[in-house]
Amino acid sequence: MAQDSEPASRVVLIGGGHTHSLVLHAMRQRPLINAAVTVINPGRTAPYSGMLPGFVAGHYSRAALDIDIAQLCNDVGARFIDGRATAMDPDSRMVLLEDGAALPYDLASFDVGITSAMPRIPGFADHGVPAKPLGIFAERWDAYRKEAGAKSVAVIGGGIAGAELAMAMAYALRHRQNTTIRLIDRSGILADNSDTARKNVRAELDRNGVEVIERAPVREVIPGGVMIEGGTTIEANFVVGAAGATPHPWIARTGLDLHHGYIKVDKALRASLAGVSATGVYAVGDCAHLVDNPRPKAGVYAVREAPVLFENLHRALAGSPPQDYVPQSDYLKLVSLGGKRAFGEKFGIGFSGGLVWRLKDHIDRKFMNQF
Ligand SMILES: Cc1cc2nc3c(=O)[nH]c(=O)nc-3n(C[C@H](O)[C@H](O)[C@H](O)COP(=O)(O)OP(=O)(O)OC[C@H]3O[C@@H](n4cnc5c(N)ncnc54)[C@H](O)[C@@H]3O)c2cc1C
Repeated sequence: MAQDSEPASRVVLIGGGHTHSLVLHAMRQRPLINAAVTVINPGRTAPYSGMLPGFVAGHYSRAALDIDIAQLCNDVGARFIDGRATAMDPDSRMVLLEDGAALPYDLASFDVGITSAMPRIPGFADHGVPAKPLGIFAERWDAYRKEAGAKSVAVIGGGIAGAELAMAMAYALRHRQNTTIRLIDRSGILADNSDTARKNVRAELDRNGVEVIERAPVREVIPGGVMIEGGTTIEANFVVGAAGATPHPWIARTGLDLHHGYIKVDKALRASLAGVSATGVYAVGDCAHLVDNPRPKAGVYAVREAPVLFENLHRALAGSPPQDYVPQSDYLKLVSLGGKRAFGEKFGIGFSGGLVWRLKDHIDRKFMNQF
């Protein structure tokens, strides 16, 4: 909260991702001292990824997976801007917005996630739907699910997210006539996962009636289908892009040091400029690259970074040295399997069934209930 005696420091939080949501939540108990906080996010709410497949399957309402960023801002006296950042000028310390506005900052933090748009696949931008940003995907899926007519879905990208979405869609459409769900991968599906996860999830794809098409690089997305290298066309009237993570292209216009398009951060989550980390800028979640300890893109890291970012904003405002973030080496992976069943894995041990789904449901609801 700003005090009258000295000018408030301007803290700009760019993106309402998981970390920033938790930072705002923490500010309800412990406000940032003498700070004027502004949050920029496209839309008043941000969806929680853990419950997206459950929403797609029909287990949760749309409202159940939305974190109300604007409300959090209201609760802590922060200004909320419904908009998008498009660049940053670190010399003049300005965040630039899509509508042309320039927002000055003393401290800034990026938590803008990634995109699954596939710019290198011709036709995807016109005829495909990226799985991320999750909010746009959720809206497109909801509209598609409600439309009458035959359903043919092609999910491009056979990683965990693609498999989870394919099973959720198959479950949601299980009573519809003329439904085909296909999971397409350029090599083999679930290549980055353990043998246990691969075996279990493959069996569940089969159980849900998802057709798996492997060694099939997509050449182009066309109206009504996807074309595979070699010329085969696979029919689809809903094409989902779930192949890997792509950093937002506009991140390149922040002037910050990047690693393949992701914002490089040190152990204290500080971004750097020409190798110098005292920029007053932080990056967290999927858009950040942890230079000392790179981790996969997963919500669990975004969540665990929140207390460290929160503490470091406090410390930066007080002029004290920052705390380090030490990422965990492994975490409990929970994959929903269409119906109310899930697969879980930790330290190479896998387990699946209805109880695992209830555990996942409990963890996800507990996370959402804090807001
Ligand atoms: C289908 C699916 C299921 C998943 N399930 C899991 C799971 O079970 N467990 C797990 O750990 N991970 C899961 N993940 C991964 C998880 O989604 C991400 O790791 C997590 O969402 C990252 O959080 P974040 O804080 O980086 O940002 P996000 O949650 O991606 O949020 C970014 C926010 O920034 C906003 N934003 C974007 N561009 C701008 C801009 N220009 N200006 C301002 N704001 C902007 C977005 O609108 C959004 O609100 C899943 C991913 C997918 C696709």
